[in-house]
Amino acid sequence: MAKQLDSKIPAGPVSEKWKEYKAHQRLVNPKNKLKLDVIVVGTGLAGASAAASLGEMGFNVLNFCIQDSPRRAHSIAAQGGINAAKCYQNDGDSVYRLFYDTVKGGDYRAREANVYRLAEVSNNIIDQCVAQGVPFAREYGGMLANRSFGGAQVSRTFYAKGQTGQQLLLGAYSSLMCQVHAGTVKLFTRYEMEDVVIVDGRARGIIAKNLITGKLERFSANAVVIATGGYGNTYFLSTNAMGCNCTAAVQCYRKGAMFANPSYVQIHPTCIPVHGDKQSKLTLMSESLRNDGRIWVPKKLEDAKALQAGTKKGSDIPEEDRDYYLERRYPAFGNLVPRDVASRAAKERCDKGYGVNNTGLAVFLDFSESIERLGIDIVRQRYGNLFDMYEEITDVNPGELANEINGVKYYNPMMIFPAVHYTMGGIWVDYELQTTIKGLFAIGECNFSDHGANRLGASALMQGLADGYFVLPYTIQNYLADQEVWPRISTDLPEFDEAQKGVEKEIDRLMNIKGKRSVDSIHKELGHIMWEHVGMGRTAEGLKEGLELIKKIKHEFDTNLFIPGSKDGLNTELDKAIHLRDFILMGQLVAYDALSRNESCGGHFREEYQTEEGEAKRDDENYFYVGCWEYQGEDTTAPELTKEPLEYEAIKVQTRNYKN
Ligand SMILES: Cc1cc2nc3c(=O)[nH]c(=O)nc-3n(C[C@H](O)[C@H](O)[C@H](O)COP(=O)(O)OP(=O)(O)OC[C@H]3O[C@@H](n4cnc5c(N)ncnc54)[C@H](O)[C@@H]3O)c2cc1C
Repeated sequence: MAKQLDSKIPAGPVSEKWKEYKAHQRLVNPKNKLKLDVIVVGTGLAGASAAASLGEMGFNVLNFCIQDSPRRAHSIAAQGGINAAKCYQNDGDSVYRLFYDTVKGGDYRAREANVYRLAEVSNNIIDQCVAQGVPFAREYGGMLANRSFGGAQVSRTFYAKGQTGQQLLLGAYSSLMCQVHAGTVKLFTRYEMEDVVIVDGRARGIIAKNLITGKLERFSANAVVIATGGYGNTYFLSTNAMGCNCTAAVQCYRKGAMFANPSYVQIHPTCIPVHGDKQSKLTLMSESLRNDGRIWVPKKLEDAKALQAGTKKGSDIPEEDRDYYLERRYPAFGNLVPRDVASRAAKERCDKGYGVNNTGLAVFLDFSESIERLGIDIVRQRYGNLFDMYEEITDVNPGELANEINGVKYYNPMMIFPAVHYTMGGIWVDYELQTTIKGLFAIGECNFSDHGANRLGASALMQGLADGYFVLPYTIQNYLADQEVWPRISTDLPEFDEAQKGVEKEIDRLMNIKGKRSVDSIHKELGHIMWEHVGMGRTAEGLKEGLELIKKIKHEFDTNLFIPGSKDGLNTELDKAIHLRDFILMGQLVAYDALSRNESCGGHFREEYQTEEGEAKRDDENYFYVGCWEYQGEDTTAPELTKEPLEYEAIKVQTRNYKN
């Protein structure tokens, strides 16, 4: 019998649901809060904001991260900005418009009620961060400045140069450290969660590995919150930090938490192109650059060939021979179309032979027009650190005058190409951010909830902080209100024994494979399969082939992996092997989901389902649902699909249009 998922969406109009929820949810009294423990795994924007808020509310919080400091969470890498519906520009923005843009940007595959709540609390986030001292960019008169991101016709993105994530994380970190000093939050750095412990059907703790000593330790709590980020590194090459992994999320999935929409993987259009097979990381050039940068390829194939051969440079090609293909195809949004649309358009041009680097896999991002209009100083004020980063990596200064043809000045353009960046899929959560395991919550990038099939730029930071500062602190109380507060849950329970033994057995299994291949060599092969078969353009045939190849990779991993050293003490190769074990399972999950979804939507593009103009063709009649996958006891057994039907009340579902 088909399973039913209760998304717990409150009744009433979409604009009233969250207010109603907050008015009626159960609360925990201050004395009981002192006796309730909450584990928060992760110290990125989602985890740090949640841990700080829960600590401030009076709960006992145990907060874990794999890095040596919470400040090194991957959120620190976020560049371009954070959205909010403040309408400081008086340009027609509103909570409704942010909600609408996000639902439309997600290709009508997000849960409407969650997205409305996200837009509603977006303004509180900015106030909170300003109060913490986050140095957002300001106008000359002192007002907070804004810029535009893809999929919107307003300027609603708040930013701190190209280092917004860093500044927001420092804000969250200072709140967290206040609570550490107040004694409500205990930090466990360089600890990796390896398993979630379930007692009587409820999440009651975790098994974590001390990454320095190699020892496994047990931690119990009344609720467990996972804030461990996305699974982009399944593809090996991505813009994610090298340490990003999906082990905690995948282990929760193995223990019964459903995983939603895994095939919704975001390929970001503006990354520095791959330049060799020794690379282990890709670098993002923030979407904010599309405010003032124009994307183009040559109009003539002969120019493209000359660029590929290195006999011409971008600045040699005059204005009339440039094809600003996004402005041509999507006049209403131009260079600021959403990421999935921009990435596919770049691929289309490169597939047709118009790519501009030696591999033919790059397009130009050009600032000539804006440098001439605004002056280099203003352009550098906005994007200086991104220009420096680009120059350090490629040895090309995008702000440098390179040529003048018929009185028109041309500056060095950047070369960019799409790369894996963000994962919209994640652990399934209901409106309360609770997973299908009671007492287990998931927040930030590791849940699936708000971005549908494609996330709009600057909305991940908004979601992480919304979840941590403004949603979970309410919803978790509704769960904790009737939990036993005394005695504390013991880590001597047989469930903890069993979980710890399971992890020990797995570590021994990996250490004892004693094969010939390094973790990275197998991971790289997995990444190649994922990119070729489960990447930007997918087909049923390619996905089936991909699944077969992933099975072979799994076999190779299980029989030919080599981990040097021992399991005692620090062993980063062992840690990477555990991550790879879970990336392999994740890769399968992405492929299964992509194969089951016979339509194109957002980041999931099935080549069989496209319009004559090459746009994604959705099938709302058959696929208007969240695809939720359930583990079937073995990594090798195909997962089972349950569908959560989507219900839209406030927004009319239609074909996305960024042309007019
Ligand atoms: C280069 C780049 C630029 C970006 N720029 C923007 C932007 O401008 N605007 C925007 O909105 N979004 C941006 N994003 C996306 C955004 O940064 C992320 O989606 C967001 O920061 C994720 O936050 P998080 O708290 O969910 O996870 P993370 O920041 O990834 O934090 C994960 C935490 O979990 C911990 N952890 C992981 N696994 C374990 C485990 N097993 N045990 C214990 N701890 C664990 C880690 O130590 C870390 O503390 C960008 C992403 C990239 C890659």
